[in-house]
Amino acid sequence: MTSEIVEQAPRRRRVSVKALPQHNRVHNRSLVLQALFHNGAMSRADLARHSGLTRPTVSVLVAELEADGIVSEIGQRADVRVGKPATLVEINADAFHMIVLDLSSADRFVGAVVNLRGEVVDRAELEIDGAVGDDAIARVIRLGERLAALTTRRILGIGVGSPGIVDDQGVVREGLHLEWFDLPLKQRLKEHFRVPVRVANDANVAALGVHTFRDVPGLSLMVITIEHGVGVGLIIGGSLVEGEQFSAGEMGHVTVDSSADGSEGALCTCGRRGCLETVVGARYLSDRVAGLPAQERDAALRSAGRALGIVTAPVISALNLNEVVLSGPAALLDGPFAEAALATVKARTLSAVGRGLTLRTSGGDTDLVLLGGASLVLQAELGVS
Ligand SMILES: [Zn+2]
Repeated sequence: MTSEIVEQAPRRRRVSVKALPQHNRVHNRSLVLQALFHNGAMSRADLARHSGLTRPTVSVLVAELEADGIVSEIGQRADVRVGKPATLVEINADAFHMIVLDLSSADRFVGAVVNLRGEVVDRAELEIDGAVGDDAIARVIRLGERLAALTTRRILGIGVGSPGIVDDQGVVREGLHLEWFDLPLKQRLKEHFRVPVRVANDANVAALGVHTFRDVPGLSLMVITIEHGVGVGLIIGGSLVEGEQFSAGEMGHVTVDSSADGSEGALCTCGRRGCLETVVGARYLSDRVAGLPAQERDAALRSAGRALGIVTAPVISALNLNEVVLSGPAALLDGPFAEAALATVKARTLSAVGRGLTLRTSGGDTDLVLLGGASLVLQAELGVS
């Protein structure tokens, strides 16, 4: 037991430091930006009410943000009844651009230039062509350069969703498909592009994308990405759950062995058999249903959805989650797969758990990892989440 603990990579410790005036300023600035980000245009009085800051503090912060070009006045409120009409300010969405990269696809790296509202300004992608290790990194850098050439504003930062286990220093500790081991991806990109860089696990990043840019009720959600692997991003109480070894949400290699004939299930990339990934992973699943008549195809998809429901039910129940989003190929997930997954979770949990539960697919929304990349940068650079 002791040796096991010693072998584990050290986890960060949160140390509490005394708040300094400049910390307060940064914090207050992020309170103002956070309010504007989520509410759109507001008056300074609204901002004071919303942030709990005093009017004079808000005015000073707004003046600073205006000078930086991040917020601008957009005229006066139309619906004023008495007194001097309030001037509204809002975030200038095009004050900066962000470069965002989604490295989660099996065959290509996808990227975009987005503005502060997460709106895609331009896109680019690059075939992976089987590249691994350093060759794969070279391709990521080439895609980043292509996107940098497409930006027309100052670059706030680069946000990356990478497959594998990624620590809080942006080191890909283990990315099997790209053969990345202890790769300091964040450092490599920072040295090349000379702008702030954030890197996190692709499923976690997708969850952040949903949390920040897609309207979901509540502060907790689970995003399950079903691509060449199966990833789970968990947000509890508004915060991403990373886990002690940065592998929270790892469910792809939980053994399910759903084979009806009692055999051990298909061989998985991890070297074991019958993992959830071999049952619901997009590659395996599309191979299994290829060419099947409609009825058999639906039955196969339902069976895979059921396997996902069996693995996720205890987690959904234990955390009392209301919101589960399945992200992956719509042709596989929409319909029988998602229906069976939801029915299985409901059948295997107390009605109090299932009643509030919404399980939906992202409906072909393929930008979740890109948006999450923007969320990483916004959070790090402007304190907006
Ligand atoms: Zn496995």
